[in-house]
Amino acid sequence: MTRAPRANVEAICQNFKVHVVVDENNPIRLEQARLAIGILGRTFRNLTVEGVQDPARQAHVGSLVNQVQFQPGVTPDMTVVLQDSTVAVPHIHADFQSWAAAISTTQPPGCQGNNVLAALYAASLAAQHVFNVAFKDTIEGIRLLDGQATWDLITGRGGSSPPDAPALDAATPIIDVTLVGVGAVGQAICHALTTLPNLAGRIDLVDHEFIDQGNMERYLLATQKAVGQYKPQVARHVLASHHPLLQVQFPAPAPVYPAAMPTRFEPRHALGLSAGSPGWAILPLLQIEYLAPPLTYLGWTDLDGARPRRLVVAAVDSAVTRRDIQFGLHEQVMNVWTDSGDALNSWGYSIHRIGDQACMACQYHSKTDDPGTAMEFKARQVGWPLARVRAYLEDPSKTLTKADLDDLQRAKGFSDTYISQFLGQPLKKLIEGICGQGAQVGNDRIAAPPVPHVPVIVGIHATSAIILRAIGYQQVPNRVQGDSLRWKSTSAEIPIGEPAEGCLCQNPVIQQWYRGYWSLPSKPVIAP
Ligand SMILES: [Zn+2]
Repeated sequence: MTRAPRANVEAICQNFKVHVVVDENNPIRLEQARLAIGILGRTFRNLTVEGVQDPARQAHVGSLVNQVQFQPGVTPDMTVVLQDSTVAVPHIHADFQSWAAAISTTQPPGCQGNNVLAALYAASLAAQHVFNVAFKDTIEGIRLLDGQATWDLITGRGGSSPPDAPALDAATPIIDVTLVGVGAVGQAICHALTTLPNLAGRIDLVDHEFIDQGNMERYLLATQKAVGQYKPQVARHVLASHHPLLQVQFPAPAPVYPAAMPTRFEPRHALGLSAGSPGWAILPLLQIEYLAPPLTYLGWTDLDGARPRRLVVAAVDSAVTRRDIQFGLHEQVMNVWTDSGDALNSWGYSIHRIGDQACMACQYHSKTDDPGTAMEFKARQVGWPLARVRAYLEDPSKTLTKADLDDLQRAKGFSDTYISQFLGQPLKKLIEGICGQGAQVGNDRIAAPPVPHVPVIVGIHATSAIILRAIGYQQVPNRVQGDSLRWKSTSAEIPIGEPAEGCLCQNPVIQQWYRGYWSLPSKPVIAP
């Protein structure tokens, strides 16, 4: 297998012609178009939209990108069809039936119902298909859809929704969620929530970051005008403006965290600020003396006195932070992830409790000796020693020199063209570039198209799981994983699995505390 040079990837992003055809008289089709354009516009420069004449509707469907061309009659390489009739050129239909996406490269599968999450899922799978067609000769392992398929958000598998699937538009889900991490996945969850017809309850948004240029590639809510804004504030604005019955808050008001604030990164265990990020406001709730080394229970002191939560969604990028969140002893935690390897193509979510199955920390328990902080992960990404990466990331004014670029190139084999754009830039920018891309690292080149559909796909799955539970539908898998390069394993239900030996979740005192706090039945005592 020969790998394509970086120049080919850039040429594909530049020249591959993507077209979106929309039935503008159908509001749910407009929502699909808005998402598809928001995703595709981050990878492909040559994107046109047909079928939206009304200026207000044009403004709406183009609101997740900086600009969009409304232009009929082009001859594209791929067309996303968001209408009931088909087109002559290579195309992908993105229809929806109950909670399932119905995708087809031939005839329109037809729509049943008006479930907006299924519609968005279809639009993001169509974007995945366009990406895979464009890069099929460039990225290894791509297997294309040929024909028709349905994928269901309820079961997490291929096929139709169960017959007893609830109607989304008839319900008002009442949620109680703390979302930790309003990054690429977290904001995709927020976007999906905004499209629901009804939503009430409460969501708390926890993040310490501001939107910057580096977020543009995967962050739907980051158009040019959002740069410099506090991520939870941007997400709160879109959520609150769509859902007046939803209480949206974040732990500290934005003015407390000025943009120029020096950034602190994760110290390891047992420190006062275990997650390390000032905006997280995570402080020890109580400390357990009998554990060595002492671990902290975490909470958010400026919201509810740091009490454990009903459901915490962990959309973060560090094993340590995930373990810290788990041992806040929240009733349930949902781990949401995209792959951190060389090819950012896989994704998943899983829901955990303390008890007989693996907790969120168990999933990372094998890495206990050296779980890797976010800083260590970044050091591995660029192939530099930890201290050198830390020095750059903790001082925002420190920028990359020619000598630095040469070192980075030696360590990781970036191409000349790719690495040269980071001269005089902070290291953070290079790292964010790597993070948002489907990278194929070859001997001396890196080919890396942005993959904004991956966080959106997992975000829609996670949102569906949250909403289905909130409306009382419990038959939802606790763990779903997917692979955006291989159509046949687009998503799959996976068992949660056994707890890891030695994990804190198996400590009897922890279990007793958890059951007592959440008024859960005691563990049955089995006579020897
Ligand atoms: Zn565990």
